[in-house]
Amino acid sequence: MTSEKPILIGGIDAGGTMFKCALAEPGGRLIETVRVPTTTPADTIAACLDFFRWELDSRSAKLGILGIASFGPINVDPASPDYGTLGETPKPGWSGTRLSGRFFSGLGAPIVLDTDVNGALAGEIELGAAKGVRTAAYVTIGTGIGAGVHGPGGYLARPAHPEIGHIRVQRHPDDTAFAGTCRFHRDCLEGLASGTSLIARYGDPAELASDDPVWDVEAFYIAQACAALVLTTRPDRILLGGGVMQAAGLVPKVRAAFARLMNGYLGLSDADIENLIQRPALGDNAGLIGAVTLARQNLKEPAWSG
Ligand code: ZN
Repeated sequence: MTSEKPILIGGIDAGGTMFKCALAEPGGRLIETVRVPTTTPADTIAACLDFFRWELDSRSAKLGILGIASFGPINVDPASPDYGTLGETPKPGWSGTRLSGRFFSGLGAPIVLDTDVNGALAGEIELGAAKGVRTAAYVTIGTGIGAGVHGPGGYLARPAHPEIGHIRVQRHPDDTAFAGTCRFHRDCLEGLASGTSLIARYGDPAELASDDPVWDVEAFYIAQACAALVLTTRPDRILLGGGVMQAAGLVPKVRAAFARLMNGYLGLSDADIENLIQRPALGDNAGLIGAVTLARQNLKEPAWSG
């Protein structure tokens, strides 16, 4: 018998509306979870710390590492003095918050931190719709558009991440009047296809009928992102997540638009395209499972510990 405390690991899916926390076994099995509303950094972080301290104390366990998959923009370069620090975010009070530093000093455990998109991708590779493929991409189409790509060499573009949200896209012929919402480029992909841009010209996307022609316009833009990914990084799977993708029937429209854009190039059949472009499988849990996966993968050799 050893008197050493058992090691557990933690994960936080740090979102703009909710921080989801999990305590897990080193193998990844979730032991306990909690959801903390995202209010002020002080209150939100304190509530998360309380959860971990209480759960660890009650099990006489030690935290081996904490994985955080965070909303952004956030610095994810372990070599940077600003690792784990949020950049300029519209979320009031959160710009400049040092997430990794706050959790490190609060819990005394190494921290591994990545973007929410890479976190969700890690979860989908581990347990979801990208399990077993060599190269997978995750594109989230929500308030903004972000992406992560993971291949045999790990995450692409480390310590940054791909910025496919800002590629130029060809305009849909029925969408020539709208200026676009990107504050840098106006009518880049994000400026024309994000939830923000949909709201700006059509109102709440959740109120639009599934046969509204708006969705053909939207599918045309998302298909261009898929084509750009396929032509550059050749993923075996592209997962389309985020609030906008919850629209019924949008994925088949994206596949059809993608097939028209590719026009036979690479010889992808309809079945190939169906296999290529999919919805994430873990839904709401992908970020949390991904955060725990990040922790597990880095338990032996944490890249950052204060
Ligand atoms: Zn842009």
